[in-house]
Amino acid sequence: MSKTIFEHSSAGRKGATLPRREIDIPLQSIIPADQLREKQARLPEVSELDVMRHYIALSHKNHFIEKGLYPLGSCTMKYNPKVHEALVRDSGFNNLHPYQPEATIQGSLEILYELQEQLAEISGMSKVTLQPAAGAQGEFTGIKIIAAYHKAKGNHHKTKIIIPDSAHGTNPATCSLVGYEVVELKSNAQGRCDLEHLKSIVDDNTAGFMLTNPNTLGLFETQLEQIAEIIHGVDGLIYMDGANLNALLGIVQPGKIGFDVMHFNLHKTFATPHGGGGPGAGPVGVVEKLVPFLPVPMVAKAGDEYYFDYGHAETSIGKVHTFYGNFAVLLRAYIYIKMLGAKGIRQVAENALINANYLMALMKDHYHIQHLEYCMHEFVADSSWQKKEFGVNTLDIAKRLLDKGFHAPTIYFPLIVPEAMMIEPTETESKQSLDSFAAAMLEIAQEIRENPEMLHEAPLTTPVRRVDDVRAVKVLDPAFNLGD
Ligand SMILES: *Cc1c(COP(=O)(O)O)cnc(C)c1O
Repeated sequence: MSKTIFEHSSAGRKGATLPRREIDIPLQSIIPADQLREKQARLPEVSELDVMRHYIALSHKNHFIEKGLYPLGSCTMKYNPKVHEALVRDSGFNNLHPYQPEATIQGSLEILYELQEQLAEISGMSKVTLQPAAGAQGEFTGIKIIAAYHKAKGNHHKTKIIIPDSAHGTNPATCSLVGYEVVELKSNAQGRCDLEHLKSIVDDNTAGFMLTNPNTLGLFETQLEQIAEIIHGVDGLIYMDGANLNALLGIVQPGKIGFDVMHFNLHKTFATPHGGGGPGAGPVGVVEKLVPFLPVPMVAKAGDEYYFDYGHAETSIGKVHTFYGNFAVLLRAYIYIKMLGAKGIRQVAENALINANYLMALMKDHYHIQHLEYCMHEFVADSSWQKKEFGVNTLDIAKRLLDKGFHAPTIYFPLIVPEAMMIEPTETESKQSLDSFAAAMLEIAQEIRENPEMLHEAPLTTPVRRVDDVRAVKVLDPAFNLGD
């Protein structure tokens, strides 16, 4: 275990210099007697360097992208350029107040307006709202818009939304929250939507269909034309969960291939560090007929002036975030898109695809891959061979990866692949770092053959070994969560 800051303490050592008091004011004269300390506070006596080393050492006990590859499938844990961080801290942005008059924030409004336009262009949608704070809230906004559309048309009988069995848990949760009944669609042997099953569950009560594309198996849903025909045939709407959009950038526009509404995860696709659960942004784009239902305000332009537009307030689903969304996250996405330009944006997707396919090729003879074909920006391997032969499962492998300096992939998701390891290297990794990750996975495959017992003990080198996951969710005091 690491030392506490008190263990670095040495009597008389100081790390800060305070200004000398010019006038001596007795504390007793301003602080009530019963609130004065009786004893000196117990503080560590440390130098600035002691403190720096202590906290830097602590930070390294965690995993982060600047320390090593972080192939967490679907989450897109890529490196985020530091120039974004410098720019969002600029006082011109940082000191803005949301109630400032529009005339004094024209530059920031221009950025929001342009970002709306850029995302509309990238997605092929008519208009985009920037308000939602995360993918999950984007889903909520999008499904609310679907509900508003049906309400306006008098489609009161539409109570169901269809979702494939490979979907992220937020999809069914969102639909339930909006008040829809969820109907599960089976995947077929190719890991895509089973069209025959779809036809058998669609009826006049179908309000919509929610699809992740590429799906959570890392495969492109190829039957969109047929799906659109089936769903639009009953006046249903098709929602795209855009969490995997980094696979499509500059190549496919979802709004042009049948999707009616979608969310973006700016913190996944367009750069914002999101490892620690910090703020994100989940803008939502819609086709023309859904524009009247978008949240208010939108940022609009008249002549050279930008302004907050509440024009469609009567038909809008309302506001989904205080003020105008998470501005600093929006700003990072704007800078990212501006710096890359149209060509660079497409290269992001191309490199994401090449990296995932390269890594899959290196691993495929050592781990089972259920859908072995060209993948998109991620692929799903599993430990079914290792489990059957040696009793080593995916959790053991994930823990062993920590010993080798890598974060684990997403594990046990999607639910339809037993012992799943969902691997997304992202476009920011070099060939060398992919090679070293593959080498670690191959080493682990060999360790499993030679010493399967050791794998159950992993991780062996981290300050905390296996945590008791079940207990950790129930007992929130971290001191109680150490498994051993
Ligand atoms: C991440 C993710 C979400 C949820 O997005 P958040 O921004 O985490 O709320 C939804 N669907 C898929 C497929 C995802 O990967």
